[in-house]
Amino acid sequence: MLKETNVSLLSLVVPFLNERDTVQQFAAFGAKLKAEVKQRHQLDLELVLVDDGSRDDSIERYSAALEGEWRIVELSRNFGKEIALFAGIEESRGDYVMMVDADLQHPYDVCLEMIDALMADPQLDVVYTIRDDRRDESMRKAVLGEMFYWLINARQRFNIPPNAGDFRIMRRSAVDALLKVRDKRRFNKGLYAWLGFRQKAIHYTPDERVAGATKWSKLALLTLSLEGITSFTAIPLRIASIFGLLVGLGGIIYGLHIIVTALLYGADVPGYPSLMSAITVLGGFNLALLGLLGEYIWVAVGEVKDRPLYLVRRLHHSDKKENNG
Ligand code: UDP
Ligand code: MG
Repeated sequence: MLKETNVSLLSLVVPFLNERDTVQQFAAFGAKLKAEVKQRHQLDLELVLVDDGSRDDSIERYSAALEGEWRIVELSRNFGKEIALFAGIEESRGDYVMMVDADLQHPYDVCLEMIDALMADPQLDVVYTIRDDRRDESMRKAVLGEMFYWLINARQRFNIPPNAGDFRIMRRSAVDALLKVRDKRRFNKGLYAWLGFRQKAIHYTPDERVAGATKWSKLALLTLSLEGITSFTAIPLRIASIFGLLVGLGGIIYGLHIIVTALLYGADVPGYPSLMSAITVLGGFNLALLGLLGEYIWVAVGEVKDRPLYLVRRLHHSDKKENNG
């Protein structure tokens, strides 16, 4: 983090997975930003890229195209964007750390706006962005999104802002705080909010990808949402317990009713429909509950195993030597 001069350093942390087609544009983006932050804020810029298990020649292309000071942390396989970002942040040395995607969906002007905002106010620790457009998203997805944020935000001491992503700039104090959080399952959006600090939001509309396709499948999004829920709220468990209690109470009352009726008027032939419906309702509910419990236990198991968050295969850097990581 400390440099010989007292010029401050800005680290640009960029995770990538098979982004060979966006390399040239990204290198140009980096070079332009480097010149501009130097001129505007006397900041040096270092690029810290993380190869999240790419199967193409992205690394070679970046090595050839990037200018100035850069490092590429090559992970041993695909660990997912959230963990790749963590690896990059750990590798970064900047007094400020900014995270952007490799596909240039994060507009250059918004990057500058964030840097300006942070530089202008010494009281601010973090400037983050809120994605504004829901153009290409269906109603159903928007409604699910609302429900999701309601659920993870209910009764928390901190609020997770909807549509705020990893695209943000943080002061070193906040970065170090984030590095202290050793959660294995990393739901970044939640962690950023959990940190606290003085944060400011900027609204923006993402650009189209310059090339390639999104790496998020529906299943990956669902998994991420579940991670958000299981690592930030116990409300589903609580709802399930309360519901279970109510159903149990109902069962007891109904049972008493049968016993009393039998004592007063003699035994009835038990009704097949009511029996069957009770079995299916309770059985189904039990299974759902078990699945839910399983989700939480799975998270707990992951934390207990205490494996490293990620493994580095190699560290590549701008003076063309290669270290074994
Ligand atoms: N990415 C990654 N690991 C993954 C998936 C994605 O490092 O497992 C990178 C990807 O190369 C890009 C950024 O994360 O730089 C955002 O991914 P993408 O553009 O696919 O997501 P979207 O913009 O569609 O949300
Ligand atoms: Mg993208």
